[in-house]
Amino acid sequence: MMLIFRQLFDVESSTYTYLLGDSGKAILIDPVFEQIERDLALLGELGLTLETVLDTHCHADHVTGAWLLQQRTGAQIGISAHAGVEGADLPLKQGDTVPFGRRYLSVRETPGHTDGCATYVLDDESKAFTGDALLIRSCGRTDFQQGDPRRLFSSVHQQVFSLPEDTELYPGHDYSGRMVTSVGEERRHNPRLGGEISENDFAGYMTNLGLAHPKKIDIALPANLRCGRPANDIAPASAPEWAPLKFTFGGVWEIDPSALEEIGTRVQILDVREAEEFNGPLGHIEGARLIPLGELAERTGELDQARPVVTVCRSGGRSAQATVILRRAGLTELANLAGGMLRWRGHGFPVVGAST
Ligand code: FE
Repeated sequence: MMLIFRQLFDVESSTYTYLLGDSGKAILIDPVFEQIERDLALLGELGLTLETVLDTHCHADHVTGAWLLQQRTGAQIGISAHAGVEGADLPLKQGDTVPFGRRYLSVRETPGHTDGCATYVLDDESKAFTGDALLIRSCGRTDFQQGDPRRLFSSVHQQVFSLPEDTELYPGHDYSGRMVTSVGEERRHNPRLGGEISENDFAGYMTNLGLAHPKKIDIALPANLRCGRPANDIAPASAPEWAPLKFTFGGVWEIDPSALEEIGTRVQILDVREAEEFNGPLGHIEGARLIPLGELAERTGELDQARPVVTVCRSGGRSAQATVILRRAGLTELANLAGGMLRWRGHGFPVVGAST
């Protein structure tokens, strides 16, 4: 039986999630909270039981799906013992192994981006999962979360570049469409860590990157320090079946614009903006019913109880609150349009009533 290997991508955070399976058992590396329905569906279709969820480190840019996957499957959670998180079953150290079927991953500690970064190496050294320690032609930043360029330099050189030349390297992210690299390739062509670049060159480069504060850090870090467990402990038992929905860390079911486009008239579209926005420059989705958020609690009776409701606003914030109001009113088949009219229009889907 062949190794099962899948590389999955989250567009919002540019995060890669990896599925490894053998003999009916699976490991997921770096799952994303909002993507777990996708991941569970794939595991089911491939006939795999999720045994372990691994994070390469405590992420600052997305919430891990580890806790939610554990709630749904009973899988154990593994992360570096130095990550300082609460709720992990496997505090991993250098040289530990994590089995799946007849195969295993071994742990190499690669701190520097954070204290608790690990690289997971497949048993035959054909593949390694580097998280943010080494990205393709790049590396994770070292300017917050205990980051230390000198530590990262020696981690990459001693723990990653010491693998065979043709070991495939799979990073935690890529922002320009690259999916895989190799040890030899990065040793020669990584502009930060490869070639003749010295530790001093690297440290100078990394301290002068001038990067912006990551936009999700204030939500992601506290959540990831609890393996992605929300403060309210909300975990849905299973996914609704009327549409492909994603559960957000905020506790709301969301639908992507393209999924809504596809199911069309089977659902009611409820626009909760003000009338002047509904008829304003962004327009609205054909067939949408307008009930401004402030009036929704008194007017839920106007909705058809027998059909699912998708709520819409400008960017997805007010409409998320609308699903909470509708749930209180007893409706159950509900979803928020992810990204609102802005994302709907960004996809080029049709609108009506746009004034410009
Ligand atoms: Fe990171």
